[in-house]
Amino acid sequence: MPHSSVPRAVALLTRHDKGRVIAPILQNKLNWQLHTSDAFDTDQLGTFSGETPRTLTASGCAEYKARLACELSGLSIGLGSEGSFDAGPYGGLLPWNQELLTCVDIDNNWQVTGIAHGPSFHQQRVLESSDKLSEFIEDIPKGQALILYPQSRPADTLFKGVHGKDNIQAAFQECQDRCSEAVVVEYDLRAMHCPERMNRIAQATENLFARLQCYCPNCKRPGFWPDHLVDGLPCGVCHMPTHSIAKRIAICQSCQHQQSFAVDTPFAEPVNCPYCNP
Ligand SMILES: [Zn+2]
Ligand SMILES: [Zn+2]
Repeated sequence: MPHSSVPRAVALLTRHDKGRVIAPILQNKLNWQLHTSDAFDTDQLGTFSGETPRTLTASGCAEYKARLACELSGLSIGLGSEGSFDAGPYGGLLPWNQELLTCVDIDNNWQVTGIAHGPSFHQQRVLESSDKLSEFIEDIPKGQALILYPQSRPADTLFKGVHGKDNIQAAFQECQDRCSEAVVVEYDLRAMHCPERMNRIAQATENLFARLQCYCPNCKRPGFWPDHLVDGLPCGVCHMPTHSIAKRIAICQSCQHQQSFAVDTPFAEPVNCPYCNP
C-alpha cells in the first residue's frame, strides 16, 4: 500500500481512545487521516469486566467493528480493533494479551488484520482488608487503572477506571462499607486505562502496515502474509524431522493463491530434536 499523495479518510470506531496510538502511525506511513467515531457503543459487543458477555470471536469482532465503521461513516476503508486475554502459550504461567487491528476496504473487497501479542501484567486479587491494598497499589504500572467490586458482585457496586492511590482506597472502602465482604481488585483492561494494551495496539498497527505492503501475486490484493507455519525442519545431526519451523505459507484470502517461503536455515539444532535430544 503506497503512501497516499493526498490524505485519505479512513474510519475507526472506538470509545476507548485507541485513535491516539493508531492515527499517528497510519498518518505517517500511509497518509491516512483517521476519522474516529463513538457513534456505536463497542461495549455492546462484550466487556472485559464481564457485565456484557462476548459472543463473537476476537477476529469476528474486529471485522464487525471495521465494517460498521464504514457503514456509519460512509467511508470505504474502515478499521476495527479488538483485544483479548487468555492463558497464552505457556500453559497459563503468564496471562497473554492479543491485539487485532482489522482493516476492510469495502469498495475493493479485501480485508487485512494486523496482529500483536505478548505476556500481560494483568493482576487480580481478592482482598479481605485494606492492609494488602497498599502493596498491590505499589506494583501497578504507571497509567494503569483499576476495577473494584465486592466479591458477590452486586449489580449496584462496581468501580471502573479508578486511578490514583486515594481514589483506589476510597473505592475499596466504599465496597467494604456497602457489603462487608472481600473486595475484588483488578486491572481495568479497557485500552484508555491500560498502557500495556495501548503499546500493543501500536504494535498491531505496525504489523497491519507491514501486511498492507504484501500483495498477492495473483489477484494483487494486499495482506499476502505467511501466517501458516509448517514444522518438520530436519535435525542437523540425524536428519529426522523436528518441531522447528520448516516453511511458512501465505494463502490469499481472496483468491486462495498459495506460496511457501523456506526458512533461512536448512537444519534444526539437535537440541530441538526429539530423537537426538529426547
Ligand atoms: Zn489473491
Ligand atoms: Zn536429531
